[in-house]
Amino acid sequence: MTSVSRRAFLASAGAVAAVAGLPAGASVPVAPIAKAVKPPLPTWIVGTPGEWDHEIIRAATREAAVLLRCDECEGEDDEDFAGPDGCECEPCLARGNYEATRVTQWDGRPEASIGSGDWLDIGSEAICSRCDYETAKEMCGHNVAGKAVCEDCMTLADWDIVDPEHAAELRAEMAEDEAST
Ligand SMILES: [Zn+2]
Ligand SMILES: [Zn+2]
Repeated sequence: MTSVSRRAFLASAGAVAAVAGLPAGASVPVAPIAKAVKPPLPTWIVGTPGEWDHEIIRAATREAAVLLRCDECEGEDDEDFAGPDGCECEPCLARGNYEATRVTQWDGRPEASIGSGDWLDIGSEAICSRCDYETAKEMCGHNVAGKAVCEDCMTLADWDIVDPEHAAELRAEMAEDEAST
């Protein structure tokens, strides 16, 4: 079963349950089923390249995502204002510098459930949840249960979660060290 048909199935199951609770003669609601099947808005991260100002934005298009990230143009009050193209007010200048990156993995995911570890998973830098230093996948940072953990802060318990094989190797090494002392 594809995820869409599964969603549709769950939605219709929910609708049946709701109908069962209605008084006899009440009309059957049909519209909510169509609504539930509608795919979530595409997810983007929008911010300045190389800066730590990226925000999660849901929008249908890249342009819409960048627009949502910016404050509205302030140039209308200017008598020379010729429209947002070429306008040099702060929001318009910021808009020209923003990049928007599509993050399909986060579509339909509540923003509150997206942790620092998830940012690592999409190739971004993140702040280690334990030592507050910057880390990234290429700096051997890991996503431990949704939280970013840098190389130095990784414990055996963390390795058990992200790479049990490596955890076993570390345990074997520690046992060897202990045997040789
Ligand atoms: Zn402007
Ligand atoms: Zn750390």
